[in-house]
Amino acid sequence: MSTTGKINVQTENIFPIIKKFLYSDHEIFLRELVSNATDATQKLKALASMGEAKGDLGDLKIEVVLDKAAKTLTIKDKGLGMTAEEIEKYITQIAFSGAEEFVNQYKDKVDKNVVIGHFGLGFYSAFMVAKKVEIFSLSFKEGSKAVRWECDGSPDYTIEEVDTKKERGTSIVLHIADDSEEFLEDSRIQTLLTKYCKFLPVEIVFGTKSSWVPTGEKDEKGHEKEEEIQVENIINNPVPLWIKKPADLKEEDYKAFYRELYPMQFEEPLFHIHMNVDYPFNLTGVLYFPKLSNKFEAPKDRIQLYSNQVFVTDNVENIVPDFLTMLRGVIDSPDIPLNVSRSYLQADSNVKKISAHITKKVADKLEDLFKKERTDFEAKWDDIKIFVQYGMISDEKFYEKAVKFALLKNTDNKAFTFEEYNAHVKPNQTDKDNKVVYLYATNIDEQHTYIDAAKSRGYDILLMDSPLDAHYINHLESKLDNVQFVRVDSDTVEKLIKKDEVQVSKLTEEEQNTLKPIVEGVVAKEKYTVIFESLSETDSPMLITRPEFMRRMKDMQAMGGGGGMNFYGSMPDMYNLVVNANHPLISKILVEKDAKVQSQLAKQAADLAMLSQGLLKGEELTKFIKRSVEMIN
Ligand code: ADP
Ligand code: MG
Repeated sequence: MSTTGKINVQTENIFPIIKKFLYSDHEIFLRELVSNATDATQKLKALASMGEAKGDLGDLKIEVVLDKAAKTLTIKDKGLGMTAEEIEKYITQIAFSGAEEFVNQYKDKVDKNVVIGHFGLGFYSAFMVAKKVEIFSLSFKEGSKAVRWECDGSPDYTIEEVDTKKERGTSIVLHIADDSEEFLEDSRIQTLLTKYCKFLPVEIVFGTKSSWVPTGEKDEKGHEKEEEIQVENIINNPVPLWIKKPADLKEEDYKAFYRELYPMQFEEPLFHIHMNVDYPFNLTGVLYFPKLSNKFEAPKDRIQLYSNQVFVTDNVENIVPDFLTMLRGVIDSPDIPLNVSRSYLQADSNVKKISAHITKKVADKLEDLFKKERTDFEAKWDDIKIFVQYGMISDEKFYEKAVKFALLKNTDNKAFTFEEYNAHVKPNQTDKDNKVVYLYATNIDEQHTYIDAAKSRGYDILLMDSPLDAHYINHLESKLDNVQFVRVDSDTVEKLIKKDEVQVSKLTEEEQNTLKPIVEGVVAKEKYTVIFESLSETDSPMLITRPEFMRRMKDMQAMGGGGGMNFYGSMPDMYNLVVNANHPLISKILVEKDAKVQSQLAKQAADLAMLSQGLLKGEELTKFIKRSVEMIN
């Protein structure tokens, strides 16, 4: 035998649950109530345009009023209002979203995006801060009676006709709870309105503010007299830039809007992207490229996410790819589900589409700039490089586009695309295994000796000095065909690009064996491996190199490479001390009879090599200087 039943939700318990869990941020009650007031106003306008609401609509501003003595906060609109039946239906049936019904009813006639509400429980968020809520409402419908609804947070409510409300529209009166009295502070409400309602489409008034206006009279000195008057404090800009047509906007408008979004930001953006999609999802917004320093830091002024002009968050993590969070601006999309947890967002098909679209737009914009204004693009490259690199490393789709416009700059500050660079270095920098070797330096000053030597062979050297370069180089090697990056100081110039050339050495093997222990005797053995190489006579007598592989692993570990990289990070630093077998000084050391002089010469040559790599420090450096002075004397 089996029975079927219905789970009965005990409404007795729902208010404490709302209060605690509905939104972790209690402050969003204001966003919800002002959004509802905006919806009511927009609906009335829509009805009027369809001829269903008659007469002059009058002033439609929404008012937010604080009464500290009565401990109330009132949100008052002159929208379509509600009849008693509508209050019963839309307000008392929790989670029954009137907004959805409205959209369904008028779906062919009204753009669904004029209506904000689809969060469902919006109105009840009032109980997060209020111990009692009253609604006074007068519907626009002819012959309607004004009603008052009251509820103290228990499932019992009262509803009655009143004749105190004469104006069309709705006032929501919150009797602020004892533990929420922060919401009776003017400054708190002003801040919240500015945060959440800054770009709502209906004007919102919160108290008054002073303004100086000319009186029309002149003072003794003939100056225009001004007087202070109180004017309505309108907290929003109902027509923000991103909802306007790009064709109607000038560069200056975009800059002005940037300042409106980030009043504390004094640097101008490099360029912007205006997005406007209505199919297959709805997305508007403006993204700005800020000047990014060559540092990797968490952005302070972040992209703001809106839903039909209502501020939702400035944390767009999981909504757009990570690298895009380095940009600034506004994204407005009612198609981003806001009532699911962050981890579900990424999997949402709309979010996926939106994020792919934004990525594409950004890449297209960069490609466009590159094609049309290459000089300008090159000039801005250093400011956007880290962004492009991050995008290329982390987003395959972005990489595919960026590979056409990403630049490589050499130590002479000349910029190349990947294709151009390959053509540029291929003839001279292809090694015996047919790999094209891209030489690079990370610091022009520190690696000057090596850069110089490589240049004298006719090699080109890239400057890779961004904090992402260690990862970027690895990524490019895995993507680009037959290309290998080699740091300019990772080997002696002869061996940077291995070619099949026999080199004649001036030292016999026996001679090398004699010399080796002498050189080893003057350096720290665990750090330096002594090797002999036949370099040119004009190269240095001794050189320090650091194997590319080892150094790169260290760099990546320092950047936070994660994974199995820690092994390399904890390895001691290892260097090669290369003895130039062809250098006259080396021959001189070999033939020197006085053992003391011999080791002094070797020490001096080794110290010079370390000095050019910045490895000679502290006591060793002091000794070196003393010894040098003695030798000059
Ligand atoms: P949603 O806005 O998602 O529909 P809410 O809980 O915020 O959900 O509001 C429920 C419904 O109550 C609204 O859809 C609307 O029909 C009605 N409502 C709320 N506030 C107002 C108001 N200020 N004027 C007219 N109707 C309102
Ligand atoms: Mg709502």
